[in-house]
Amino acid sequence: MEINEDDLIDRYVKDLTPIELHFLENEDNELNTCNKCEIIKNTWDTDEFKWDCDHDLKGYTALCCECYSELGCKSFYEMGIDC
Ligand SMILES: [Zn+2]
Repeated sequence: MEINEDDLIDRYVKDLTPIELHFLENEDNELNTCNKCEIIKNTWDTDEFKWDCDHDLKGYTALCCECYSELGCKSFYEMGIDC
């Protein structure tokens, strides 16, 4: 069975089938998961994903927008820090 990256986007890791989970963790793909709620997004979708290289994520490496605003995170740019 072919797995399509797009089929996994906006779903949660806990809801995946074993085959989909294998794809996510072992196959070459451009998907990533939010460290907090584990929703799956495209790595390059910067509107959806915030990374700790650009933002203060309070200890997380990657967060979706929802968790980002829930935690009250800020970008380093907003805080006046160059990175
Ligand atoms: Zn999240």
